Amino acid sequence: LRDYMDSLGRPKNLFIIVNPFSGKKCARTVFKNEIKPLLAAADIDCTIIETKHRNHAQEITKSLDLLKYDGIVCVSGDGVLVEVVNGLLNREDWATAIKLPLGVIPAGTGNGMVKSLLDPAGDLCSIPNATFAVIRGHKRSLDVAIVLQGEKKFFSVLLLIWGLVADVDIESEKYRWMGSPRFDIYALLRIMKLRKYHGHVHFVPAPGYEAYGEPVKQVDNFKGHILLSKQDQESTTTVQSCGYQGPEISLEGLEWRSIVGPFVSLWVNNVPFSAENYIPAPKAKFSDGCLDVIIVRNCPRSALLGMMLKMSDGSYVKSPYVMYLKVKAFRLEPGKRVGHPTKGGIIDSDGEVIARGDESAVNSEHKYLMDYG
Ligand code: ADP
Ligand code: MG
Repeated sequence: LRDYMDSLGRPKNLFIIVNPFSGKKCARTVFKNEIKPLLAAADIDCTIIETKHRNHAQEITKSLDLLKYDGIVCVSGDGVLVEVVNGLLNREDWATAIKLPLGVIPAGTGNGMVKSLLDPAGDLCSIPNATFAVIRGHKRSLDVAIVLQGEKKFFSVLLLIWGLVADVDIESEKYRWMGSPRFDIYALLRIMKLRKYHGHVHFVPAPGYEAYGEPVKQVDNFKGHILLSKQDQESTTTVQSCGYQGPEISLEGLEWRSIVGPFVSLWVNNVPFSAENYIPAPKAKFSDGCLDVIIVRNCPRSALLGMMLKMSDGSYVKSPYVMYLKVKAFRLEPGKRVGHPTKGGIIDSDGEVIARGDESAVNSEHKYLMDYG
């Protein structure tokens, strides 16, 4: 059986990371009762570890002996997967480490990655379907975006949000007791008391999207971390001291364009689904070297409400108030909230809050560059 599995490219040894804190806190039981028996029946050897705290998965993968495993599987939400990607890309041997297949079995509140993987095959986003996909050893390549914020750098596989969506996502935390209706209820509240944010969005358009925004004449220093696509990555990277730094590519020849606010909402996506029932970026592809950017500037409240009702099938993008474009690189210069002297907006990338919207965050003039590896 083992030789046969090998011939099919199926995994024989998996490192499994279970987040007992994910979602409804039942990942441990679900793993024992529903997942482990399937993996055992498929004759897969599992090394299992439970995360004890935030960033634990990142710490584990940073020092894990990868040669022992055919893949790492997260029994969790998207958060642990993001930690694993960051752990791998911060290793000295990141270039080989990142080739290790990764899997996710949905046990969290946010399962956008599993949903994005299973949905095109017509499969429901369920624990057995995800487990079977792992057993079959199906693989797809995935773009990783580098997010730079001053001296800080991290790797993103899902999204970056600012404005309405980020405010709803993060500020509604205090209504967690409601369960998932908290998002809809708080979104209604936020639409009624709509906020707008000053700021600029700069981007390098993907082919076909050159007409969006206005040309930028001069692009200042982005610390040289401009990268374009997977192919570029392979040909231009130099050996780095520790972890992937991003290839150094000249800014010359890149056509930057810019859109000026005020903005209601900004949503940058690497994959179509941000959660099981939200499809903000229906045109997003796993490895096209592009991020899908959705911008809403001026928009009447009634239209926003209408869009909210069409989030689950992605048809909201047809609204005339939605600007949908694909970019190769991206930079956000967030400003203050319109009509408010000090407050900025929350910025969240893959669940990591990189700006809280407080006074200091605005004064320090955050600049983000998101680009490709
Ligand atoms: P969900 O989709 O429900 O948010 P995730 O698996 O994405 O679930 O995990 C959410 C967060 O929980 C991650 O940021 C992760 O670092 C954190 N975490 C992992 N293990 C623990 C733990 N033992 N206690 C508290 N938080 C944890
Ligand atoms: Mg993409």
